[in-house]
Amino acid sequence: MLRIPKENNIIVMSRENAPAARAKSGDTVIFETADAFGGQITSEADVFSSIGWDRVNPATGPLYIEGAEPGDCLKVDILDIKAGGKAAMVMSPGFGILEASAEKSFVFDIKEGKVFFDGSITIDIEPMIGVIGTAPAGGGVATGTPGPHGGNMDCKQIIKGAALYLPVNVPGALLSMGDLHAVMGDGEVAVCGAEMAGEVTVRVTVLKGVKAPLPVLISKNRVMTVASAPTLDEAAKTAAVNMRELLIGAGMDGEKANLLMSLVGDLRICQVVDPLMTARMEFNLDILKAYGVCVFRNGSDTR
Ligand code: CA
Ligand code: CA
Repeated sequence: MLRIPKENNIIVMSRENAPAARAKSGDTVIFETADAFGGQITSEADVFSSIGWDRVNPATGPLYIEGAEPGDCLKVDILDIKAGGKAAMVMSPGFGILEASAEKSFVFDIKEGKVFFDGSITIDIEPMIGVIGTAPAGGGVATGTPGPHGGNMDCKQIIKGAALYLPVNVPGALLSMGDLHAVMGDGEVAVCGAEMAGEVTVRVTVLKGVKAPLPVLISKNRVMTVASAPTLDEAAKTAAVNMRELLIGAGMDGEKANLLMSLVGDLRICQVVDPLMTARMEFNLDILKAYGVCVFRNGSDTR
């Protein structure tokens, strides 16, 4: 199986990046990923300000997928996420939306499926991918920033078993990913999750003729539109408007889409700490099934 070592990483998602590896549509690929600090926080003595900024938020890749052309959609099935043995967190004045009086780092053990937070608390892990995206349409975008190409969305539903649909903006798509979190709450309010190294196994599939407001995520029997913007208000509105467009594109009646999104849809925060804010609108897949429609008309959401 194709494996991309973590040493093959980028800090800007760009059409200019040389591919680290090549795959065909339908291939399974393993991405080994460093943590968001580039592995530089190994103890409480390693503080964030001492880290080289050129090594923050590395994303492994990019992977060139043969046959992917601008205007296509890249389906990324998250088959597995293997957690590393340690998780790191940092706090610093001005980071996140909470007060922090001093710069500090924290390192936790991950074992038996739990983060050992302190002597009182362990937290069950739910490994997720913070940064995952294709090369953007225009100029390069730092891996720390989210956008229509994906990137640093910090959406805690990008987990094992999920399918992420990303736009193909450049030939080969140039998929990269990193910034795994052992666990993270919606918002990521203190600036980071339980940052860990690990490896992600994905299947990449090129879809032709998908007309949808991407990125779209299918996770836990829900379909989600993910949107990023300078303010949370804008991100939230775009996520909701995109879901309505997606549902109508799938064949649902527009008025029923409005009503049902208001009844059983959930508008949620992904993160509020990156250069753009990210929100997601969630909607039950069972409702689409009840109407006999698929998220994507070519049936690629059948899972
Ligand atoms: Ca992140
Ligand atoms: Ca992170």
